Amino acid sequence: KARIFRFGNKTADGTRDMKNLLGGKGANLAEMSRIGIPVPPGFTITTEVCTEYHQKGREELIEILRPEVEDGVRHIEKIMGSTYGDKDNPLLLSVRSGARKSMPGMMDTVLNLGLNDETVEGLIKRSGNERFVWDSYRRFIQMYGSVVLGMKPDNKEDNDGFEQIIEELKEKRNIELDTEFIVEDLKALVRDFKALVKKTTGESIPDDPWEQLWNATMAVFNSWNGKRAVYYRNMHGYPSDWGTAVNVQAMVFGNMGDNSATGVCFTRDAGSGENVFNGEYLMNAQGEDVVAGVRTPQQITKLGSQRWAKLARVDEKERIEKYPSLEELLPSLYKELDEYQQKIEDHYRDMQDMEFTIQEGRLWILQTRDGKRTGTAMIKIAVDLLKEGKINEKEAILRIEPMKLDELLHPVFDKNALEKAHVIAQGLPASPGAATGQIVFFADEAYKFKNSILVRTETSPEDLEGMNIAKGILTARGGMTSHAAVVARGMGKCCVSGAGSLSIDYKSRSMKAGDKVYHEGDWISLNGSTGNILEGKVATVEPELSGDLAELLEISDQFASMKVRTNADTPKDALAAKNFGANGIGLTRTEHMFFGHERIKAMREMILAETTNGRRRALRELLPMQREDFEGIFEAMQGLPVTIRLLDPPLHEFVPHELSQQKELAKEMHISVKQVKNKVDELKEFNPMLGHRGCRLGNTYPEITEMQARAIFEAALNLKEKGIIVKPEIMVPLVGTVKEFILQEQIIREVAETVFTERESRVEYLVGTMIEIPRAALTADEIAKHAEFFSFGTNDLTQMVFGYSRDDVGKFLPVYYEKGILGGDPFEAIDQEGVGQLIRIGIEKGRSTKPDLKIGICGEHGGEPSSIEFCYKQGMNYVSCSPFRVPIARIASAQAAI
Ligand code: ADP
Ligand code: MG
Ligand code: MG
Repeated sequence: KARIFRFGNKTADGTRDMKNLLGGKGANLAEMSRIGIPVPPGFTITTEVCTEYHQKGREELIEILRPEVEDGVRHIEKIMGSTYGDKDNPLLLSVRSGARKSMPGMMDTVLNLGLNDETVEGLIKRSGNERFVWDSYRRFIQMYGSVVLGMKPDNKEDNDGFEQIIEELKEKRNIELDTEFIVEDLKALVRDFKALVKKTTGESIPDDPWEQLWNATMAVFNSWNGKRAVYYRNMHGYPSDWGTAVNVQAMVFGNMGDNSATGVCFTRDAGSGENVFNGEYLMNAQGEDVVAGVRTPQQITKLGSQRWAKLARVDEKERIEKYPSLEELLPSLYKELDEYQQKIEDHYRDMQDMEFTIQEGRLWILQTRDGKRTGTAMIKIAVDLLKEGKINEKEAILRIEPMKLDELLHPVFDKNALEKAHVIAQGLPASPGAATGQIVFFADEAYKFKNSILVRTETSPEDLEGMNIAKGILTARGGMTSHAAVVARGMGKCCVSGAGSLSIDYKSRSMKAGDKVYHEGDWISLNGSTGNILEGKVATVEPELSGDLAELLEISDQFASMKVRTNADTPKDALAAKNFGANGIGLTRTEHMFFGHERIKAMREMILAETTNGRRRALRELLPMQREDFEGIFEAMQGLPVTIRLLDPPLHEFVPHELSQQKELAKEMHISVKQVKNKVDELKEFNPMLGHRGCRLGNTYPEITEMQARAIFEAALNLKEKGIIVKPEIMVPLVGTVKEFILQEQIIREVAETVFTERESRVEYLVGTMIEIPRAALTADEIAKHAEFFSFGTNDLTQMVFGYSRDDVGKFLPVYYEKGILGGDPFEAIDQEGVGQLIRIGIEKGRSTKPDLKIGICGEHGGEPSSIEFCYKQGMNYVSCSPFRVPIARIASAQAAI
């Protein structure tokens, strides 16, 4: 089986469909080469070799790989007309990582391999460009040192040692930009870099180009298991056995002078989704400079440049002089680039994110991939491509990452509050959203505040975890394609980048804007859509469903056969969910209604009552309140089905646990504090979640079920009088044996008949049960003889199947992920292997007695896409989730059916 796949010269061994084997970068380099895009020639070592390497180790692997790699290098040499390691005409190579899914900046790349003191001379003679060669050499040492020899920044307040040396030299030479270095400076850097490497690692950079190549290749394989990559993988749920491919490719040079450049571009706007080509470039630079935010790059298009200038408050004259676009500076190259981006997007039929390099007037494309984008852009691009006829409806829906919709469903800044807010400074709108929080200056301190804003000069891949925790990210340097911007967009996190007027001082943990200083802990707000940085907390408002998203959801409903309901306990939540397209309520938790100020009193009286009569008295007080709640919810849902669950939690959750509150209660109830205390103690349970709760309450205190049933039926009849026909679905929680259900059902039906007779009017209703105790799933055929519907309560079911207390898993889950005992949180995504079996059994058995039994799910899992797909496959009729997850579930349900 082939271990390497070649590309270049308009042909390739691989294709775009081989991402699993070649990684995304390798597969797309092959594909671009096939369709005639100029990519520097090279070859891809497969992801399988990465796994092989981790099994067999370095030496054995090199022996196996050597013939094929030598072949591959000869393939590059032939096309480039130079020879790897040759002292007169040396070929230089890059070694680039590339996993199945792009993990920007998470793994390593080494550029300019093949340089040593000898080949440097040869390359100078060949190119006649001494400056470029020394610049490449110092970059090589820097990258080799940090990637292969593992030199990391020594402390978090500093750059790594290399940057330190660069800064010092700049200061000494009194220059600002690294493009201003002259040959002598670069030579000095090479010398100092080598010394630093020796001092830090005790090793030297090998002179032998083949040694360099093997070491870099192994370093890339190792980076798959590096800390950053592992964190990123876990965050996205990518399995560790995917491995990374390695791409070995001829170098092309963007640092050969004023006719050379490097850049990154997007075929559409990754923030807004607008169909405009855009991107950034740096003259006389190598690729990593753009992403690392070393210099602030310039815009590729004139339009982009003008938009940027407006935000940066640069006037047109200055813009053209100092920051011209590529379109204006090198029009014919721009035109060529524009043609390629069009061709590539048309070929891939999705927004692309590309890297390019111009070497002395010749354009090369170095990478393309489906561009990371915000939720807003994701929707707009899918709808636009659909309208442009490039994709069909099904494809448009499959393009949506359901969880990403989350961003669109979160609050945005209130317009009035925005107008009044004081603008501290202006940056680039790198990733939209509204974020408010307290300033932190170090990524590993992002957890310090509940809401933090990470403020950095620039971010680096080490900061990933902190960026994920922070509510928003602000950088003083870097453009729209800087690390911060790209990662933030991928995470759907609000980000403002390149706010050049801010000066950040890590030592004093402060940020200066004009003559105002802001410290760690100060509140600021970021508007990721405009780039504004605002002082203090700025108020936010709820978003609405409209435009492209509404359109897409409507399309998706045509494909979705499984309905989406919501979990809502108040009319407000019910309304919000209905506006998001909920098809009914799958779970109303009645206990949430008892926590209001007046209500908790009546509830406590009920709990503290010593006799049935005492309880009934308190329940009579609760009845009208409960009825009113139900009326509100029924009214909000306007005749859509509403499932109401009877009282579920252990009673001790309602009683006061503090002495002062116990005293107050005693006074109100005219009993002694001691009596209150005794009752509280009596209610204490060792395992409340497995204790006196659910239908065990209704079966020991039937009067509670009676009251709740009465409230439901009276509310339904009251609405019927107003012309709204409701069909309540009454749900008995925590059933484990069929007898538990039958007794509750009897009470409900008796109350129904009593109320119907009293009012001389009827409504239709259903009585069903939750399936959340393993025994219920196992005996579902018996239960289905009586129950009219099932709703899987997967929170409790997961809790009981695993035997994990939901409230205590935090103590061991992190260790379980680390050790690979669990792949993910079973309370988030259904454990299909274990819990899933019980669901399957429950459905099969239930429908074996009642073939058309209505079945749904109302645990948290009902809003999680992979679980939704599972529910669909098991034949559920609906999923129910929290209001803000409803649009997510609608898309996921359609995707499951497509
Ligand atoms: P990442 O996956 O982190 O983006 P890449 O492998 O794409 O890493 O490389 C990092 C930078 O180096 C990119 O800007 C890329 O364009 C540049 N680069 C990689 N290979 C070459 C090459 N053969 N010639 C010129 N620049 C290169
Ligand atoms: Mg790249
Ligand atoms: Mg439950």
